[in-house]
Amino acid sequence: MAKQTKAVAKLKKLRNDTLADIEDLRTQMQAEIEPASDSDDDSVDVASDIYERGKMLSLIQSLEDKLHNIEHAITIANSGRYGKCESCGIKIPGERLEILPETTLCVACANKLEQGIRRQRIQMADDTPREYDDDSDDEYGADDDDDFEEEADNEL
Ligand SMILES: [Zn+2]
Repeated sequence: MAKQTKAVAKLKKLRNDTLADIEDLRTQMQAEIEPASDSDDDSVDVASDIYERGKMLSLIQSLEDKLHNIEHAITIANSGRYGKCESCGIKIPGERLEILPETTLCVACANKLEQGIRRQRIQMADDTPREYDDDSDDEYGADDDDDFEEEADNEL
């Protein structure tokens, strides 16, 4: 299938924006850490610093997850399958792609996946081992490796 140039361009911009956001947060965190070591005796400040850092860390974590999804969506768009649900194949509504350009699942399948993950977490908390059939990563990504690596080299 033809490469979806428009979608790829949009996703690459989103990837750059997300990378910049992560970089900003890392810089902010670095700036927060340094002055804190000078005023170790102020326990309130230290506590709130730790709290702020925890918030930033989880923000960075979620941006990194998003980045991972964007990379995946770029691979999908490179092979012309962007905009269709990876799981059931229906067309993902334009409004959803507008809000979540990195998504490769329709709402129903995304919810199903989310529920599966949640159920897995609950079961893991119960200490009940359970196989999670995550085959989504292997199916795609092989076909456009050359293009993908080339891009990565330019970026980094
Ligand atoms: Zn679906």
